Amino acid sequence: MNIRENIRKIKEGLPSNVTLVAVSKTKPVEDILEAYDSGHHIFGENKVQDLVQKYEALPKDIEWHMIGHLQTNKVKYIAPFIHLIHAVDSLKLLKVINKEALKNGRVVPCLLQFHIALEETKYGLSLNEAEELLSSKDYKELTNVEIQGVMGMATFTDDKEKIRKEFRYLKGIFDELKSKYFGNEASFKEISMGMSDDYLLAIEEGSTLIRIGSSIFGPRNY
Ligand SMILES: *Cc1c(COP(=O)(O)O)cnc(C)c1O
Repeated sequence: MNIRENIRKIKEGLPSNVTLVAVSKTKPVEDILEAYDSGHHIFGENKVQDLVQKYEALPKDIEWHMIGHLQTNKVKYIAPFIHLIHAVDSLKLLKVINKEALKNGRVVPCLLQFHIALEETKYGLSLNEAEELLSSKDYKELTNVEIQGVMGMATFTDDKEKIRKEFRYLKGIFDELKSKYFGNEASFKEISMGMSDDYLLAIEEGSTLIRIGSSIFGPRNY
């Protein structure tokens, strides 16, 4: 795998409003350093323990993104440094993030994760649940989290039209939440969708954050 070349090729075709998160989960720090040395400083991980280990081992100007399901009891380990938490799917989690952010004197940026795929196994909110969360008194009292947008994962399928519909659905949710709850807030701007196999589709449908692993680092070593 030529990591540097893979990143260069992906970035070359990206519109200027789309950010690449290089998903380095299961990959060693050497691989991340290769990407880092080529000038890419934004990485995503899906496990807290790996995130902390890699944060400690690698240059401190890396922007770390938590892209996986986050358990409330682990928030404290990443609160001091995390750049963006992609997969917030409950008020309970948001409240814990707020508490830990406060302890660290930070405002932690978050995305709300939506359930857009048909599969049962994927985490995420429905539009109704998100509206309930955003309308609640508890949410309005949170001072140290900033919801910057939405995130979703499409169904694992070869059916491009199905994937496109799911991405379009997420963009619709983003637009609706923006107009109803975030009208004046420029910081509500991110749509995190698109992975190695579907990121071009995701960009066509309005993605601003693509999360790409295997097309950069090769198949994962589990
Ligand atoms: C692993 C992972 C990715 C990257 O997947 P690839 O298909 O390897 O690009 C993106 N998003 C999430 C949430 C992931 O867990």
